[in-house]
Parts: sequence; structure tokens; C-alpha cells
Amino acid sequence: MADQDAIRAPSAVPVDDAVLPFEVSALDIRGRLVRMGAALDDILMRHDYPAPVSKLLGEAIVLTTLLGSSLKFHGRFILQTQTDGPVSMIVVDFIAPDRLRAYARFDKTRLADGLSAGELLGHGHLAMTIDQGPEMSRYQGLVALAGGSLEDAAHEYFLRSEQIPTRVRLAVGEELRGGGDGPTHRWRGGGALIQFLPKAPERARQVDLDPGDAPEGSVAHAIDEDDAWVESQSLFATVEDIELIDPDLSGERLLFRLFHERGVRVFPTQHLHAGCTCSRDAVAGMLASFDPEDRADMVENGKVVVTCEFCSSTYEFTPQEAGVEG
Ligand SMILES: [Zn+2]
Repeated sequence: MADQDAIRAPSAVPVDDAVLPFEVSALDIRGRLVRMGAALDDILMRHDYPAPVSKLLGEAIVLTTLLGSSLKFHGRFILQTQTDGPVSMIVVDFIAPDRLRAYARFDKTRLADGLSAGELLGHGHLAMTIDQGPEMSRYQGLVALAGGSLEDAAHEYFLRSEQIPTRVRLAVGEELRGGGDGPTHRWRGGGALIQFLPKAPERARQVDLDPGDAPEGSVAHAIDEDDAWVESQSLFATVEDIELIDPDLSGERLLFRLFHERGVRVFPTQHLHAGCTCSRDAVAGMLASFDPEDRADMVENGKVVVTCEFCSSTYEFTPQEAGVEG
């Protein structure tokens, strides 16, 4: 069948807000490349967070997209961090097949220039939840955050939970453009994930990240990683942040640059957009579930105003509409 596959040159046309699935069958790897422009900028600009928080939340959005876009059902993939650092909580919601929303909570007084992602997050955990609706059980995976980046956390998760050799790259940056009204800036993001999926499972054995509870002085148990996976990782490691977010470099050209010696096959692009699921009805329903006293406490200047944390939309109710006894 292979000779029936269309072989063509990589497209030079960059496609933003899209996931490009790919396969390098000579190396037994499958992966996804994400490029984000307007969708990422839309989510981040709605909040107007300080730049370090926006960048970190952007990385979480790219990671969530890489993971959530593999789901083959209509449901939600939720990534959530809870930590003791300046950014104490991040929530990213991927609503299959293509919608994203996100927010962060942070302590402004603890933010400083030059803090790494790990320093912004601090210690705590990252949870990934797959929600397929009320009929289905929720699946949750947890990984500790201990001062490392979101990439580190993703590697730890795949090593411990999925046991699939996986590498992830995430990049977020601000694009500055000169214009008639002065320079404008927009957020861009990009990321990629590769997974080693050989037919023979013994080829997928991995080197443990830390020696665990081996007795002191014992020689670390050496596992030779499969040659194809070693080669895949070294090719993948050459991806630079600037290439992941470059608005003029097409995703296909980037993949071709990385894997052309082995041959890379791409699958249909999945498009993404920013979008919230909140509505006046849903907010009214939430208010109705509160205790009457809590509802009464929400009245300010003769009205109840609720702001959606995900998209910053505000919903106004009269005390009567909010169910506050007059
Ligand atoms: Zn909303």
C-alpha cells in the first residue's frame, strides 16, 4: 500500500490554530505539532495577565492542546495545576474536538522578572482529567510538580502513568509588529509531541528518571534505549523555540526539516479556536445552587454581577433574578 501514498513537497503555507498529526514509520514514532496564533492571543488578551503569567498559561494551553487533541470523542480534557508558587492555579479546558478556554490565579506581589516556569509554579501537583459526560467515569492522572517546567511534568506523567516513551516541547512568545499606530504585540505558541510506539513492546523500555530506592552504592540498572527512539529524541531535540512559534515557517516545513531523512507522513489538520461554554442560563443555574445567604452576600450596588473566570464575560442579575429574598 505504501507506494500508493501521495509523496509531495511540504506545504510552505503556515496554518495557525491547528494541530498537525504526523508519523515517521521508519522510527516507529507518531506525533502532533501545534501552532497557535489568534486563538492563543484571544484567550490570553481577555485576561490581561502580567506577561510571565500569560506565557506560563500559554504553555499550559499548548500542552493541553497536544494531549487533548488526541481524544477521539466529544468530551473534555482538563489540565489543572495546584501549587504553592506565585501562580497557584492554572486551569485549561479542551472541549473536544476543537475549543479551548483557560485561566490562571496568581499573587501579583510574588511575581518578578526572570522567574522560570518552575519557579512560577512552585511545588504541588498537576492533574489531567478526561470527562466524557455524566454517563461515563472520569479518568484522572496526577503528577507531582516540584520546581520543574510543564515539559518536565509531561515527561514524568508519560513515564509513570502511560509508560509510553514520549517527548514534549512547548514554546510561547510575543510577536511584535510595527504598524501605523505603533508596535502591536500578539501572543503566539507552538509545541510538539512524539511518542515511540513500536510493535514489539520490549523495544519501548525506558531509562528511569531517578534511581528510586536502589541501595546506596549499587550500580544503576542500565537499559539500552532502542536505537530508533534514541535517534528520534536527538532529531526532536534540535527543535528551537523560535521555530515552534515562527509565523512564517509552515508546520509541514518544520516537520520536514526534522525528519526528512526518514520520511514523515502528515495526516489531516485539526483546527482550533478559543471559546467558552459559559452562558447566562448556566450562571443563573449556578447561583440557584448557592445557599440563600451566599446569594444575598453577592448583592452589590443593587445587583449581582458574576464574571466568568475563563473568558472574563460578565453577567448581571437583579437581586430577584438571582433568587435573593426581597
Ligand atoms: Zn466564559
